[in-house]
Amino acid sequence: MKQLNSLYSYPSNLKASAIGLLLWTLAFIGGFSEVKAQESNTETPNFIIIFTDDQGYGDLGVYGHPTIKTPNLDRMAFEGQKWTNFYVAANVCTPSRAGLLTGRLPIRSGMCSDKRRVLFPDSDGGLPQSEITIAEALKEEGYTTAAIGKWHLGHLPQYLPTNQGFDSYYGIPYSNDMDLVSDLGYMEFWQQSVDSITTDNFNVPLMRDTTIIERPADQTTITKRYTQEAVKFISENKEKPFFLYLAHSLPHIPLFVSDDFKGTSDRGLYGDVIEEIDWSMGEIMKALKEEGVDQNTLVVFTSDNGPWLIFGEHGGSAGLLHGGKGTSYEGGVREPAIFWWPGTIEPAVISKIGSTLDLLPTLTGLAGGQLPDDREYDGYDLSAVLKGQDVTPREDMIYYHGTNIFAARKGDYKLYFYANNPLGYPANLEKLEKYKLINLAIDPSEKEDIIDEHPEIVKEIEAMVAAHKQTVEPVESQLEKVIGQTEAAGNQ
Ligand code: MG
Repeated sequence: MKQLNSLYSYPSNLKASAIGLLLWTLAFIGGFSEVKAQESNTETPNFIIIFTDDQGYGDLGVYGHPTIKTPNLDRMAFEGQKWTNFYVAANVCTPSRAGLLTGRLPIRSGMCSDKRRVLFPDSDGGLPQSEITIAEALKEEGYTTAAIGKWHLGHLPQYLPTNQGFDSYYGIPYSNDMDLVSDLGYMEFWQQSVDSITTDNFNVPLMRDTTIIERPADQTTITKRYTQEAVKFISENKEKPFFLYLAHSLPHIPLFVSDDFKGTSDRGLYGDVIEEIDWSMGEIMKALKEEGVDQNTLVVFTSDNGPWLIFGEHGGSAGLLHGGKGTSYEGGVREPAIFWWPGTIEPAVISKIGSTLDLLPTLTGLAGGQLPDDREYDGYDLSAVLKGQDVTPREDMIYYHGTNIFAARKGDYKLYFYANNPLGYPANLEKLEKYKLINLAIDPSEKEDIIDEHPEIVKEIEAMVAAHKQTVEPVESQLEKVIGQTEAAGNQ
């Protein structure tokens, strides 16, 4: 390494022939190839994104939950960065996942709709092939890629992970509450005693690559089995750069845990589920250390949208934030986000704005790749912030609800154009006759409308939204395509 570094620091007027001779000599004695091999092992990081489902901002110990115990995630936050203003691209599953994997707001890929807010088992659409996923971007840089867990970007063969840049897939391809087996309607079903619900009530498939290997999937062991798959993938791919996308099916309702965690938390079944996910995180961190790749792996932990509040104690908590899943109030779209990469990430609490939209540009940049210039991106490369610099490329956030811009944030200020039920359901939007302005830095629970005090900020945000709209081109909605045009079963 030293030899090459000193070579690169030679004056630029050194004759090319002299450099060529030196490199040839090094290659001849075998030193060059050895040095390059060391460089690629240490300088091309592995990436793991862990994405939970419907977990709230307030559901981890390190984010303030008083009874759910998450020692592994807490440690990860203390050793890495805990972000406190980190947003998803949408307030429900499918569009949120499309945003994370493409770095583009779902309005650009057709992965949002006002009629069908997510994909269902009767959906005929999915993430278009023209979109470039993180996995596809990293394949360009020589990465081995795996998706484990919930997909929810199209379950038909052409939309599955193995056709979207992932070398392998193991998981349930949509929400774990779909394919309901009951004479009751979806909401009626949930009125019955939750104690009588079993995994047989949800005929969801478990897939390996493009093949169904179990149906209904036994959800009581799903977190454990996703974890085993993840640990095996790390062990098998430790010698080369890898990207693992682990999207837990839980804590989306129906809640299931393994026997090891049943009844063990102080927060009922929901707490048991989160504590099993925390155990899973610990197993992955342990595997990274044991395989000797922890110093060379960036791990990101976050969730796809806020807690599903209508399910009471089976839903999570947004902590001090207002609203939940199905809303673009802070509780619906601001998520816990922990970045861990020992030796590289500067440990800190980060209150700068970040988003899952930023993961594709950040990871692609860290891998040495470049974004294509043939499309609009809504994400930014956050690597400078991760490495401890007091700068940020992201000053704003646009909050969509389906195809409508519900609100927009610039700096500390969030301007609302719409209102809806803070519980998220029914989700009917109401266009505000008079917009609302909130200062999120001093009012994170969104209690005080200060619009009359800041007309200049309102104008600034309106101009920002108008400029954003200029960049959006209409595309076909993927979520409104239905096989045989039948009505959907299940819910979001
Ligand atoms: Mg979700």
